[in-house]
Amino acid sequence: MRNWSGHVEFTSTGVTVPANLSELQLLVGSSARIRALGTAHSFNAIADTTGIHVSVAGLDSQIDIDSRASVAWVPAAMRYGEVARLLDAQGWAIPNMASLGHISIAGTIATGTHGSGDHNQTLSASVAGIEMVTTAGDLITITEGEPDFEGSVVALGALGVTTRVLLRIQPRFEVRQYVFDGVTHAALLDGFDEAFASAYSVSFFTCWAPDLTGKIWMKRREGVDASLSGEQLAGGARMGGHLADSKRHPLPEHEAIHCTEQLGELLPWHEALPHFKLDFTPSSGDELQTEYLVPRAQAVRLLRSLESLAPRLHPHLHVSEIRTMRADNLWLSGAYGRDTVGIHFTWKKVPDALALLPEIDALLGAAAGRPHWGKLYAASPSSLIDRYPRFADFGALAHRMDPHGKFRNATLDALLSARVMPR
Ligand SMILES: Cc1cc2nc3c(=O)[nH]c(=O)nc-3n(C[C@H](O)[C@H](O)[C@H](O)COP(=O)(O)OP(=O)(O)OC[C@H]3O[C@@H](n4cnc5c(N)ncnc54)[C@H](O)[C@@H]3O)c2cc1C
Repeated sequence: MRNWSGHVEFTSTGVTVPANLSELQLLVGSSARIRALGTAHSFNAIADTTGIHVSVAGLDSQIDIDSRASVAWVPAAMRYGEVARLLDAQGWAIPNMASLGHISIAGTIATGTHGSGDHNQTLSASVAGIEMVTTAGDLITITEGEPDFEGSVVALGALGVTTRVLLRIQPRFEVRQYVFDGVTHAALLDGFDEAFASAYSVSFFTCWAPDLTGKIWMKRREGVDASLSGEQLAGGARMGGHLADSKRHPLPEHEAIHCTEQLGELLPWHEALPHFKLDFTPSSGDELQTEYLVPRAQAVRLLRSLESLAPRLHPHLHVSEIRTMRADNLWLSGAYGRDTVGIHFTWKKVPDALALLPEIDALLGAAAGRPHWGKLYAASPSSLIDRYPRFADFGALAHRMDPHGKFRNATLDALLSARVMPR
């Protein structure tokens, strides 16, 4: 059993898929070591266990919308893209999506997964409640406003097995997607705020190639973002770049067929916010990923500093993506307490591809850059937890909810036993 990229071989004894809630409660209550598995898209061993893996994919797959409160209970195992389709069909939306909709609701929010947008928070920040099976096999609900809530959403699978999630929803909306080629790093970094304010959701893709140019992907929300002028659409006006005349893939060497439609077509929100279409496999899995969530106030300086690594980054990279997100208050979120920029690397699966991880951590970690929980990094557990002001509170919550370490694995053991360094 391996993760999506094939890089991690799980050490569990296998995956059990209970057919209903009582079976799940019995299984969790009677197991010595157990850990929930989503769609296994994480690039590190965060989902691994030496006990048994449990999937909640066999539970009820209903979504339950409360239109008056603008919230919906959704199944933990359902893929984000499928939840999005069901919400859209009933006139609803969530604010944002990750680059692909193939990942499970519970796995996504457990790791602080995010999309982009100056006014958008991580996907975890749309959660208003969590239903989970605890270590004793009890079914509990933790909702917004309760003391443990802010530690229970981005929780790395350490507190229980999530069965349903309550998402805040809003009326459905539409989005037009445009790509601009040939944008220079210099222009982007000189006009960083302008570039990322230019649409509801913006990504910058670069390969750190010697010419230091990249692409801006803009996802413009109809009725919110002003229409692009004729001059902008004619090209040349966007940070020295020009409007792409055909569909693009984030990875330059890949066919764009599986990417969401671009070229300004009016699309339902869930067909434009991800980069990849739900009904296709986005890539072969022949990649590894790293991402640091850095304070927005320091992002331009850090990106300029990374340019010194460009000659060594470029040969190992498929592509790099820069995204923005608004601060949230979830203790283990990469965006906890500060507006944030995600600096992401999609590595080729080649020997030495990860050789730069220590240097990247030294540079971005010095600015309290937080590695994405589901991707690869070189930070030590003690230096990592020091980047989360509420980590000690999370540790106390994890010890209280799971005193005998039933849900623990090697990653959690290392984090929960590491000392919080003096700040
Ligand atoms: C191609 C690709 C593109 C990606 N794009 C993005 C992106 O745009 N933005 C971004 O931020 N990240 C992105 N990621 C990372 C991805 O979002 C995370 O790794 C996410 O955790 C994957 O969800 P999953 O369901 O596969 O979780 P898994 O990898 O299966 O599990 C992750 C964690 O969630 C826990 N978990 C899973 N299910 C449950 C449950 N029912 N109850 C309790 N805990 C549970 C696991 O125990 C584990 O700790 C991408 C990954 C890939 C492979």
